[in-house]
Amino acid sequence: MSKRTLAVLLTAALCISALAGCEKRPERMEFTTFAMDTVMNFTLYGSRKDCSTVQSVLTDRLAGYEDMLSVTKEDSFVYAVNHANGEWVEIPDDDILALLYSVQGLGLVTGGALDFTAYPAVKAWGFTSGEHRVPSDEELEELAEKIDYTAVKLDGNTVALPQGMEIDLGAVAKGWAGDQMWKAVKENGVSSALLDLGQSTIVAVGTKPEGNPWRIGVVDPAQPGNYFAVVELADMAMGTSGGYQRYFEQDGEIYWHILDPDTAAPARSGLSSVTVIAPSAFFCDGLSTALFVMGLEEGVQFWRNDPNFEAIFVTEEGKIYRTAGLEGRFSLAEGYTDREVVVLK
Ligand code: AMP
Ligand code: MG
Repeated sequence: MSKRTLAVLLTAALCISALAGCEKRPERMEFTTFAMDTVMNFTLYGSRKDCSTVQSVLTDRLAGYEDMLSVTKEDSFVYAVNHANGEWVEIPDDDILALLYSVQGLGLVTGGALDFTAYPAVKAWGFTSGEHRVPSDEELEELAEKIDYTAVKLDGNTVALPQGMEIDLGAVAKGWAGDQMWKAVKENGVSSALLDLGQSTIVAVGTKPEGNPWRIGVVDPAQPGNYFAVVELADMAMGTSGGYQRYFEQDGEIYWHILDPDTAAPARSGLSSVTVIAPSAFFCDGLSTALFVMGLEEGVQFWRNDPNFEAIFVTEEGKIYRTAGLEGRFSLAEGYTDREVVVLK
């Protein structure tokens, strides 16, 4: 073989391997959108075409979910239910029908710690309008009497509420949207993605392109700008609820947005945050809210009865508890490595 032929063959081989390499290496696409009252960040790995399709599908769907589930938009489905004066309202599609049954089911499973009829109380505290106030004890008693997820009537594809009751899917909506988007991302050919729906709900689609799990920070409720731990996730969702996420202060007292359905007042269970890791973002979102209401002891008991999820609890004193199943997937972040972590078994 002449030197010239050898050079041509080598060049051709290099070109082919470079092209093959290009074909294999997925592109990275990042985009941010504001939906459901939250800044959401998405990172996708795939072909440029698939990533662009996913971007437009997710953006469209998020706008649609907000239009359906908003408590304040006057043409939303939830608004219609809340203003139907006891009349039956048609449920727009099977996904929303499933969502309503699921949220009622999770209410049952959590003994009413998650109650999607807490909305009149959420409103009374001013968490919807931003005009915060502390309702009187009598007002809270009246509000607590009206909170009862079992009174929501579902029949076929219609729903009705007793007079004076209102629903709010705020405790599960982002998780539910996360599951819908998880499906949409995969259906559109993207198998590696990180869907960050405002930190409180994260969906790790597949692994990172090189095969490693996604590494997700868990917010320190005492210093929400910092992460106290890192959890490794692959094809898994994570949801966090904490008093630090929305609150106001009055006369030196902090009042947060997660309410105890029994008292209609902020749940003071001794916890400052709860993180749930499970294969459903809806479940993570709803359960993290419910476990926050239950508190550590009841929450751990709940987990022992149904150990199909992992959890991290942080108490108001800053004590960290994590379930044993997170072994090898949980580590303390820089600056927190001297903190004690109690492993729940
Ligand atoms: P999350 O941030 O997911 O923990 O959900 C809290 C949001 O759900 C609040 O902003 C309220 O809109 C609503 N909410 C508050 N307390 C409860 C509760 N106990 N059950 C269901 N929804 C609640
Ligand atoms: Mg929630």
